[in-house]
Amino acid sequence: MKGIVLSATNNLFSVLCDDGTKRLCSLKGKRVKDMEGTYNSLASGDRVELEIDPESDKKGLVTELERRRNFFGRFNEKGKAAQAIATNIDLVVCVSSPRLPPFRPRFVDRVAVLAEAAHVPFLVVLNKADLGIDEETEDRLAVYQELGYEVLTASAETGEGIQELRDELEGKTAVFAGQSGVGKSSLLNALEPGLLRRTGEVSEKFDRGKHTTTMAVLLPLSDGKTWIVDTPGIRRLALRGIEPDSLVAYFPELARIAPLCAFGLSCTHLEEVGCEVVAAVESGAVHADRYESYLRIREELASSAEYKKPEGRAYRARRTANRRNLDYHDDE
Ligand code: GDP
Ligand code: ZN
Repeated sequence: MKGIVLSATNNLFSVLCDDGTKRLCSLKGKRVKDMEGTYNSLASGDRVELEIDPESDKKGLVTELERRRNFFGRFNEKGKAAQAIATNIDLVVCVSSPRLPPFRPRFVDRVAVLAEAAHVPFLVVLNKADLGIDEETEDRLAVYQELGYEVLTASAETGEGIQELRDELEGKTAVFAGQSGVGKSSLLNALEPGLLRRTGEVSEKFDRGKHTTTMAVLLPLSDGKTWIVDTPGIRRLALRGIEPDSLVAYFPELARIAPLCAFGLSCTHLEEVGCEVVAAVESGAVHADRYESYLRIREELASSAEYKKPEGRAYRARRTANRRNLDYHDDE
């Protein structure tokens, strides 16, 4: 039997099987063969092969993971490893708000980097448009549009932009990310009334109380062809697994300019003479605040243990351990 993973905890998975039955599954054995080495084994959106439990039709064992088309994830700071949140997606949606909580471009930029990393289109939804949008936020949203990202203003409260959002999502699997309070749940319920309530039935078995803050859930819309991965409200989005020197590739406006730098590929775009990126920021061709996001993420990547200069055996052993995705901590 084949199916798609709706939600996953460390070792329990809700799988919607191709026969329409949801089955609660664990892994057959400790690892599934060819499973990508990450913090978590399976994620929402994974296509799997499973054996149905001969004793109970609602249970099963996952035996195989189909090759992932792509991967949307973050760095799990506690587990010190890449964590898949959703796989096989077509679109990344970042839900934000202009006020209550305020617009946070730094967060949106991080989600944009993750969308670039997954090689999927990126859509910024500004919910709570009914509260008014200040000039600075308008300005920042215009930058995303210039970069080729989609921007949609909406309001779960008044219904503005909801049909446009529905049209944008139709037939796709979209992962929704957002800081808590921006109205992501309200927006999903506006898209399809009761959408989030339906998850209760799946997560009850998981004892949602325990996992409510960590679990992403794949939700099928009733049109039978659109899927949404709802992710828990995130406060901080840690980024790792990108070489600091490659980060420009995840900022489309910087990626275009970086090859022109006098020092070519070895330019860090921080302060070199002849750096075209710095020049573009100074001339206003690149938005200074986007560059600020670049600098902050770069600093975070550079200071993570993963990219510290190789130093002797202890480092190499640690790095090997990290590659195997065993836990290790910076302060060890
Ligand atoms: P989540 O944490 O992102 O899931 O946010 P919720 O959906 O729980 O919404 C947080 C708060 O914002 C609630 O009090 C909602 O009523 C409110 N809210 C959600 N959408 C809108 C909106 O479009 N406009 C206004 N004014 N308030 C909204
Ligand atoms: Zn440069």
